[in-house]
Amino acid sequence: MKKRRRKRREATVESSYVCDICGEEIVIPVDVSAGESQEFVEDCPVCCHPQTIRIEVETNGEVRAWSDGEAN
Ligand SMILES: [Zn+2]
Repeated sequence: MKKRRRKRREATVESSYVCDICGEEIVIPVDVSAGESQEFVEDCPVCCHPQTIRIEVETNGEVRAWSDGEAN
C-alpha cells in the first residue's frame, strides 16, 4: 500500500485555499519558483472579494495556501 510520489518539482503547482468570505474552496496555480513564502491579493472567483493569499512551500515540496482575510 505504498504511495509513490514524484519528487520532480514543477514550476507551477496547484494548491487551494478556502475563501474567508464565502467559504468556497478555490484552486489556484502557485509558482513555487517565486519563493517559499509568498503573499498576494486575489479576487475570489466566487464572491469577488479581494483577499490576501499566503503561500508557503515546504522543504518537501508541499505547497500550503490559505486566505489571510479580506484585503483592503
Ligand atoms: Zn469567496
